[in-house]
Amino acid sequence: MQIIEEKSADLIDTQGGPGRYAVFGKPIAHSLSPRIHAAFSRQLSIPLEYQAIEASAEEFVGALATFAAAGGRGANVTLPLKQHAARLCLSVSERARQADSVNTLVRRGEGWHGESTDGAGLVRDITGRHGLYVRGRRTLLLGAGGAARAVAFALLDAGVSELTISNRTPEHADTLADAIGQPERVQTRYWTDLGNWGGFDLVINATSAGHSNQSLGLPASLLAARAICYDLSYGKASFGFLAWARSVGAEHAIDGLGMLVEQAAEAFDIWHGQRPETDAIFAELRAYLPGDAED
Ligand code: NDP
Repeated sequence: MQIIEEKSADLIDTQGGPGRYAVFGKPIAHSLSPRIHAAFSRQLSIPLEYQAIEASAEEFVGALATFAAAGGRGANVTLPLKQHAARLCLSVSERARQADSVNTLVRRGEGWHGESTDGAGLVRDITGRHGLYVRGRRTLLLGAGGAARAVAFALLDAGVSELTISNRTPEHADTLADAIGQPERVQTRYWTDLGNWGGFDLVINATSAGHSNQSLGLPASLLAARAICYDLSYGKASFGFLAWARSVGAEHAIDGLGMLVEQAAEAFDIWHGQRPETDAIFAELRAYLPGDAED
């Protein structure tokens, strides 16, 4: 597979007219992406259509081919399709290759180019929107799925001092640590042993447990003073982890709504060559979502 430089100029949509874009996933009905991209389109006067298309893993290849045949120029991909998307691309960026996960597709000739904007979205939200630093932080990453893979590389690039990965299925954490290949900075721990560890300045919940209202059963001893706890999920799915974070003294307990907006802005920039301003749509979505799970 070809590796193409990130945000390469030849990926930008120069065809003119309202381009067709979509987000694929299942379930997808409640996706906020159409609303976010419509706001970016208005802000930068770049006309486009952006729809949500429901597709299971089995349906995805066919649905994407139909979309391409109808003039689709770019797509976002969410659960459970990110690794499937990585498999069907003719070329990918280096960060998508590392993460083995694609959340942004760009039509390029007769095929698709794949990007991963989740990690950049997380780091930009923590550092830009919340004005916090990640450099030098002892970091615990909970989870080893597609999103965890993307954010692990981005956090290391952003300068966390060390990264401890713990996952319900320990083999998946080991696979991720092996793929990163920095044993001096990256280690894994059994979930059941987390009570023996502590002093983390940054704890990232990249599990999907909150979507099924399952408790993570985390010990109270994990956090250092003034720690940041960040849940990649948002809305009700984040409430359990953020409540735990506050109860054990986290200085900041942040949900993933800002990451969602920032990864979308990254995708918009890849497609259109212009990065939208994100504060207005973030504030609109924060007011719309039930509950305020920000610090
Ligand atoms: P995956 O399905 O790829 O991975 C799910 C992860 O959660 C796995 O590590 C899995 O462990 C773990 N897990 C599931 N249930 C439990 C449980 N009950 N207890 C402990 N661990 C559990 O999902 P993604 O990586 O794509 O997404 C993870 C989360 O990140 C989701 O909540 C998603 O909504 C959110 N996300 C948010 C984004 C944003 O922009 N804000 C972007 C992308 C994702 P195991 O390996 O054992 O199965």
